[in-house]
Amino acid sequence: MKVITVPCLFDNYAYIIVNRKSAEAAVVDPSEAWPVMRELDKRGLALTTVFCTHHHHDHIGGIDDLLEVYDDLRIIGFGQDQQRIPLITEALEDGGEFFLWDTRGQLYHTPGHTTNSVVYHLGDCLFTGDTMFGAGCGRLFEGTPRQMAASLQRISSCSPQTSLYFGHEYTALNLRFAALLEPDNQAIQARQQKTEQYRASNVPTSPSLLEEELQTNPFLRVTEPKLMAYLKEHHALQADDPESVFALVRELRNTFS
Ligand SMILES: [Zn+2]
Repeated sequence: MKVITVPCLFDNYAYIIVNRKSAEAAVVDPSEAWPVMRELDKRGLALTTVFCTHHHHDHIGGIDDLLEVYDDLRIIGFGQDQQRIPLITEALEDGGEFFLWDTRGQLYHTPGHTTNSVVYHLGDCLFTGDTMFGAGCGRLFEGTPRQMAASLQRISSCSPQTSLYFGHEYTALNLRFAALLEPDNQAIQARQQKTEQYRASNVPTSPSLLEEELQTNPFLRVTEPKLMAYLKEHHALQADDPESVFALVRELRNTFS
């Protein structure tokens, strides 16, 4: 499946999914319309479908403008978020299946960043919105640590070869934080080097492979003994169940800059 990463706003990404045979396209989280339309026009693609991961304006803000140009857009989203995203035309439930051309996809409800955040699993691609980032995860604006930990667990159970397309370019800062928690983790160091090279040339670090996230993303590593030992020594971690570790890591990341 061909996916084009489209930088939007300051550090957002929208994603265009291309059907080469029919010259049609879908877009995930168009925060603004013009960068998406520029890519579509350049490649002679007609937009047919929009995917919404959650209701924040920096993910759905461009849909109104796209509707003025493209008729009959199919707008896919989570049924429980239809009040906050009234433009949805095709509401799916948790685990709900859809077809994008001849590829079967599935929506997973992944609460944490917002109550009704979802991710889309399509072929070997997972579009994570603000639930998961490169080496990080979204802030808990509406959900609890328990919900977010469970949502990330669900993502972790996909094939390690799944490509993760995330909503913001935060990877470099996330890796600096990850390296602080796990100073001996060589996979984090290697990813830091690679990320520096990418960003120096303004290349997106999205997508990443789940396999790489499992080795470098502290929010997926809450059962790692070395990570827990660091938190006990430096941050008085009280209980070492995954939810408590997750909550502390999220709290520390909130004030890291
Ligand atoms: Zn958001």
